[in-house]
Amino acid sequence: MPVWEQRWHPLRDEWVLVAAHRQSRPWTGETMRAPAAAPRPAYDPSCYLCPGNARVAGHVNPPYDGTFVFDNDHPCVGATAPSAPSPPPPPYRVAPAAGRARVVCFSPRHDLTLAEMTPAAIADVIGVWRRETRDLAADPGVRQVLCFENKGDVVGVSNPHPHGQIYATSFVWKTMETELVASARHLADSGHGLFDDIIRAEQSDGRRILHEDDRTIAFVPYFARYAYEVYVAPKRRVPHVFALDDAEVEALARALSAVTIRFDNLWRMSFPYVMVLHQAPVNAGPGADVSAFHFFIAFHPPLRQPRLLKYLAGPEIGGGNFLADTAPEAKAAELQALPGVHYAAP
Ligand SMILES: [Zn+2]
Repeated sequence: MPVWEQRWHPLRDEWVLVAAHRQSRPWTGETMRAPAAAPRPAYDPSCYLCPGNARVAGHVNPPYDGTFVFDNDHPCVGATAPSAPSPPPPPYRVAPAAGRARVVCFSPRHDLTLAEMTPAAIADVIGVWRRETRDLAADPGVRQVLCFENKGDVVGVSNPHPHGQIYATSFVWKTMETELVASARHLADSGHGLFDDIIRAEQSDGRRILHEDDRTIAFVPYFARYAYEVYVAPKRRVPHVFALDDAEVEALARALSAVTIRFDNLWRMSFPYVMVLHQAPVNAGPGADVSAFHFFIAFHPPLRQPRLLKYLAGPEIGGGNFLADTAPEAKAAELQALPGVHYAAP
């Protein structure tokens, strides 16, 4: 059933134009080169993230056997940024690029990804996100801790070693600022959590849910902007990942495993995505209330087909709203139909 309509994105306060009736148009996007099928070694002596290897500027990784976190050798925000940038004329403003940029190795194994890690190992990664968010937020100058993973060379990652990044910034990222405003308004107007209502809406429809248990839910949202966009969320509303209890972390790890396995099984390739932890701001100041914010994890895969990239063009870059060429229900059905065991599992 073709879908041709506008869908409201309640977290972003904007419309998404779903035009899934156009799949037969003659040109459908950038063709990517075929994914490399060569197996990777468990240890790569030339990888700057593998245990025991040297990085730039003389740093040497310890022989770590779980996760490993370090300050980014090429930080985009950091204490060494110029502290007094030259003031521009109004209306322009400037501030130092202060903050911290961290790198998180998910595993010592060069050849794994989240999809091939055990839920227990994924729970250790969540443990890093909890600890780092709490520790970085202890700096009163930090306003937000952004944990994310860029995966795959189509999103610009040349090193396949499983890793993510953490930025602690002196400003609040635009997406989370918008989500906090929308969530606080919804709570004030209705008495309900906005994400609680999103979960209820997904449950009442049911067609887009990929994984669910007592504590966690994963689904392709009704208002998905990317073809295979998936949200993974604890059912209990907490503003930050460190507020989850251990049972919620274990459930979240199982959900992340279930989702990433299906991603890889979709085209039997390591599936590229941008994964972002949506957390509330920190150190918001006296009287500021972030309790309406519901922490969740979003996957934004850039591919629409095995070798077709979703292009951001006039609607997205120029207009600021997304045009989706696919129906979220159809994409969720594709993912639901896949086995829950990784295709490369022994
Ligand atoms: Zn490596």
